[in-house]
Amino acid sequence: MKEKRNCKIVQDLLPNYIENLTNEETNMYIEEHLQECTECKKVLENMQKEFNVKNSKRDEREVKYIKKFSHKMKLLKLILFALVIIYMMVVGRRTFIMFSLSEKAKENQLYHNYYAKLYSYQGDKLIITETHHEGEDYLTKVTRFVNGNQIQKITYYKKGTEQLLVTEREGKKYVQNTETMVGGYVSPRTYVSDGFLANLQYAFVIGIDSAYCNGKECYVIKGTSYERYVDKETGLAVREIEKTNKDITRQTDTVVDYYYQFNTVTDQDIVKPDMV
Ligand SMILES: [Zn+2]
Repeated sequence: MKEKRNCKIVQDLLPNYIENLTNEETNMYIEEHLQECTECKKVLENMQKEFNVKNSKRDEREVKYIKKFSHKMKLLKLILFALVIIYMMVVGRRTFIMFSLSEKAKENQLYHNYYAKLYSYQGDKLIITETHHEGEDYLTKVTRFVNGNQIQKITYYKKGTEQLLVTEREGKKYVQNTETMVGGYVSPRTYVSDGFLANLQYAFVIGIDSAYCNGKECYVIKGTSYERYVDKETGLAVREIEKTNKDITRQTDTVVDYYYQFNTVTDQDIVKPDMV
């Protein structure tokens, strides 16, 4: 009777014993009993078999899960890699576009004979800058309008050794013979940096589109606060839009339009301004 009662206790303990959850004292008690009891030994053997089968099934499931997971990870890595490659290609394309524009611009900036006209709009203000440039000589007129009324006109003139600065304001003329003229020299403008690395750095923070502007096929370089239209053919500025920001200094968009002509300026275009 006592044996039978012990058997019940031992068999109750066996599941935990298999999973190593029993303490040493209990283990000793179980093992002692097992040496003498074939019935319990049989029960243990069966339990162990079952336990092993269960375990291997669970292992299989785990392996399957891990395989599936690592497959997903591989796919994720592949997608990430592809995205990085695509991004690098986009940045590379931008860099290449800007670099080739800057190379074209450099060539066109070498011209010493050019005519340039700039319209700069901001709200009700308009500034028209017109320049004729031939060799070392030039005639530049900067006219300011507010609400369509001309309020100021500045003329810069340089021919040979003669230099003049004529300012017209409120019906009066001020003439200065000056050796160091500031602002008279307007050269063809571009917005792209000179050099590959400078453009590469730039390429991370801008976007590039194509668009027609002022009759030119352009690339549009878009930053957070500006849009710059650059002539695909010449690399020179066609239009710049400086967008309104919350800063008090700029409450309305500024738009500048550029027009250029090369090798059309003659000596007669650089006329000495009327002094009276
Ligand atoms: Zn027993």
